[in-house]
Amino acid sequence: SLGDRLGGVFDRLRGRGALTEADVRGAMREVRIALLEADVALPVARDFVDKITEAAVGQQVLRSVTPGQQVVKIVNDALVEMLGGDSAELEIGVTPPAVVMLVGLQGSGKTTTTAKLARLLRKQGKKVMMASLDVNRPAAQEQLTVLGTQAEVATLPIVEGQQPVEIARRALQSAKLQGYDVVMLDTAGRLHVDQALMAEMQAVADIARPNEILLVVDSLTGQDAVNVARNFSDQVPLTGVILTRMDGDARGGAALSMRAVTGKPIKFAGVGEKLDAIEPFHPKRVAGRILGMGDVVSLVEKAAEAIQADDAEKMAARLAKGQFDMNDLRNQLAQMRRMGGIGALAGMIPGMKKAQAAMASSNVDERVLLRMDAMIGSMTPKERAKPELLNAKRKIRVAKGSGTTVQDVNKLLKMHQEMSTAMKRIKKMGGIKGLAAMLG
Ligand code: GDP
Ligand code: MG
Repeated sequence: SLGDRLGGVFDRLRGRGALTEADVRGAMREVRIALLEADVALPVARDFVDKITEAAVGQQVLRSVTPGQQVVKIVNDALVEMLGGDSAELEIGVTPPAVVMLVGLQGSGKTTTTAKLARLLRKQGKKVMMASLDVNRPAAQEQLTVLGTQAEVATLPIVEGQQPVEIARRALQSAKLQGYDVVMLDTAGRLHVDQALMAEMQAVADIARPNEILLVVDSLTGQDAVNVARNFSDQVPLTGVILTRMDGDARGGAALSMRAVTGKPIKFAGVGEKLDAIEPFHPKRVAGRILGMGDVVSLVEKAAEAIQADDAEKMAARLAKGQFDMNDLRNQLAQMRRMGGIGALAGMIPGMKKAQAAMASSNVDERVLLRMDAMIGSMTPKERAKPELLNAKRKIRVAKGSGTTVQDVNKLLKMHQEMSTAMKRIKKMGGIKGLAAMLG
């Protein structure tokens, strides 16, 4: 698995603090192979890897997980973000009838999916009509009628010899007359993308003005998925994608390709031949499938939680003694950086909250936090334990050592002073137990 491969790459890295560019590049070679094995299209895999390489470099490796596991988590999070974010809802809350059109290659699952969606909408209380525009394949229209009976959804009566555009027009007219909420248009496919098919899709879209044009793609399509998606996406104004046969042994790679090429949300996943075998698309599940690493991801999540609890406990022990020196401040700063915000424990404490709010409002970004860290790094151990030792001369030394100014050092000392005062106040109130009682 990807985990085993990454283990090898990262063995020599164990116990080190941050991921370096060279380390991440090594790991990303393995990630790229994993993506390709999951059928993610090559250019998509390449782009994706470039993007996360940048994001991963410099990230801290948590204790109790290996750097390889940490990288898996980073990759996983990036996958989920790329695959998701959008809801599976269909845009059918318009003045009825809403028009939903399904397009895609032959055999991708359009007709089945049309019936599945129609059934779903009927169960939500919508009055739905389906129409087959497939005049190419013999008995294609009858197939939809049969499915309509199973799904208890109306189908437009078949009129021999009508062309797709005429059928679409007739479907819209009768839906309007009979008060349907939704008209679903099932279209013809081809074995390969061809110009005649695209022209037909465009002509239908022009007269039906669909609220949704959904590209139906077989998730087993593999590397070719990108070409299919690009062709349809270039020529028909897609609003979303539906991936079928996710119940097969597909490893979900097509999902990433589809999302990357069309830029449109994946709204549903087909998970079987039966009419109820459709579900909203779950980015987390699919990301886990692509990497085959669901367990590792939750392990790293737990480790991240544990480490925060661990820090909080240590901090609490010192708080109980009313202690707060520069080392404590440094830990707080590191925690803020890690969490991209206010430290967990600190945020709970009244006095600290104020001091940290002041930090937050004074525009404490990553750079400022790093500068503070550099200042504390330029202090001697004695100065860190007893900041009051810092006289004018020592301040100049610290400023020089950290590439800052004496003013910056003064600001840091003031912040430490405020936080330290808050700690003493807490001690007076009976230490952390008293605080807990007060909060509790
Ligand atoms: P169309 O040519 O795009 O209209 O494709 P069809 O809807 O006729 O489907 C082709 C075949 O794929 C049929 O045998 C369907 O039962 C099957 N099929 C469609 N969706 C799924 C799915 O999500 N899972 C599985 N296992 N089979 C599916
Ligand atoms: Mg069909």
